[in-house]
Amino acid sequence: MTDSPASLLCTSCGLCCTGHLFLWAKLKSVEVQTVRGLGLNVLGVEPENRGFGLPCPLWAGKCPIHTSSDYPHACRTYKCKLLKQVIDESTPLPEALEVIEQAKVMIKELKMLLPDSRSNNFRERLVAHLEDSENTDLEFRRKAGELLILYEKQFGVKGLIDGYEE
Ligand code: SF4
Repeated sequence: MTDSPASLLCTSCGLCCTGHLFLWAKLKSVEVQTVRGLGLNVLGVEPENRGFGLPCPLWAGKCPIHTSSDYPHACRTYKCKLLKQVIDESTPLPEALEVIEQAKVMIKELKMLLPDSRSNNFRERLVAHLEDSENTDLEFRRKAGELLILYEKQFGVKGLIDGYEE
């Protein structure tokens, strides 16, 4: 059986799992124990901030639990704009893969401009450096601005702190 275009896209990407698009992903209360047992970093207790921190430690080029009953609801249901366009065939897979490649190149370049941090979340590091009033690195600011535009235009992720919603 061959993989679907949607599956090929996400296994080539993983940006929503790896902390490049989001800080965290939502959890239902019934999922908390299970994902904690899987080694995920559970955050918050209230419904509006209950979730797990990204990058997901289970991601290894693909998700090892995506067919299991332990797969969190938010992961099962989240679809970025690009994925929706591949599913409805308004964007051909090769074109979508080029967008992923472009995003990864931009992320790689930005990582080289980011200062050391205790955070392992790219999004958090990006925002912190952008909001640092002492940061006068214009090249970083330009590249970060371009990436955020790409995030919004291609992935449908808006603003600096857009949430990982179902
Ligand atoms: S849903 Fe979008 S961001 Fe997440 S892995 Fe798939 S293509 Fe990438």
